[in-house]
Amino acid sequence: MTQKTDHKAKAAATGKTNKMRPLSNTVTRRLIRAAIDARKAAYAPYSEYTVGAALLSADGTVITGCNVENASYGATCCAERNALFHAVAEGHRSFRAIAIAAGKSGEDAEEYASPCGICRQALREFTDPKAFQIILVKTADEYRTVTLEKLLPYSFGPEWLD
Ligand SMILES: [Zn+2]
Repeated sequence: MTQKTDHKAKAAATGKTNKMRPLSNTVTRRLIRAAIDARKAAYAPYSEYTVGAALLSADGTVITGCNVENASYGATCCAERNALFHAVAEGHRSFRAIAIAAGKSGEDAEEYASPCGICRQALREFTDPKAFQIILVKTADEYRTVTLEKLLPYSFGPEWLD
């Protein structure tokens, strides 16, 4: 039996965890507001593109992050990973959703900014891609929600190394 087959059997056995549970309006609004607020702290003097992220842990805690750039560009880190790594450092390992707000410094967002490939993979480590919700925020009232699976299909995660 191949490792892939083992994984499929395991996924089938635990399939009941793969249901997406919609967030309440109150929680969605709280996350969106937190992402918009977190964006104000972004340090982006080079790109002048600021990003805020608000991550919802399974226990309801909201952990925020912003992008932090560096004169040595490669040392820059995205808002989504800053939120995720901060959350893990605080003891969280399971997450339900993340809201992301982004745009040119000092301006409202003009588009629904989507997480980069590295952040999608980083989030995959601690989430169920079928259930984890990504809220792409333009304004407090304009947003779209997609699952991580939609943005990162056929993904590679920790269960593949079991
Ligand atoms: Zn990223």
